[in-house]
Amino acid sequence: MPEPQSDADRALLDAARNAEKQSYAPYTNTTTGAAVRSRDGRIFTGCKIELASFIGSICAEQAAIANAVVNGARDLEALAFYPAAFPCGTCRQWMVEFNPDFVVILERDGAIERHPLSQLLPNSFGPHTLKPTR
Ligand SMILES: [Zn+2]
Repeated sequence: MPEPQSDADRALLDAARNAEKQSYAPYTNTTTGAAVRSRDGRIFTGCKIELASFIGSICAEQAAIANAVVNGARDLEALAFYPAAFPCGTCRQWMVEFNPDFVVILERDGAIERHPLSQLLPNSFGPHTLKPTR
């Protein structure tokens, strides 16, 4: 669902592209970057980190969200990913933990696309299901 480009979405995409350069992916050579934006406008980045065991590897989206949380930002609203691809199932679950209305921003063929998480992970299981105590 392409929408007009906004400066905020452009900045988020640029941050994801820059984060991709920091990826540690010696086994697949498939590098990725992500950036999340909090509602107060801060941007937090993450990159893919592979481990030889693979099972402990983390996606760029997870790294970006962890970066936001460790910096005190939990009110997250948007995530950009580079290169353009939809988040894996685990990353969609990470996103719903912080906002079931997250928006995923991708750039394909020069157009910025905004995809609601509610469409990427319908009927999600998350905090709204368990009602956490804090
Ligand atoms: Zn993932």
